[in-house]
Amino acid sequence: MKYLILIGVVFGVIWWLKLSRPAKPSASSSAADTGPQPMVRCAHCGLHLPQNEAIASANAVYCGQAHRDLAEPHA
Ligand SMILES: [Zn+2]
Repeated sequence: MKYLILIGVVFGVIWWLKLSRPAKPSASSSAADTGPQPMVRCAHCGLHLPQNEAIASANAVYCGQAHRDLAEPHA
């Protein structure tokens, strides 16, 4: 009897996981929505990267927080 309850719980969890799993968004449509990003240049190392991935400070953009901190330690 104990095992029947356990099996019931397991099936209940599987059923619940199937219901709660969100619909997989298609990567192609989300990429098309954002469109091509303008490229910016890191003021510290010169790396070119999409604007939405850059770290912007008051007067420059950087490829990451580390380079922003290196270039502007007191910003
Ligand atoms: Zn950089």
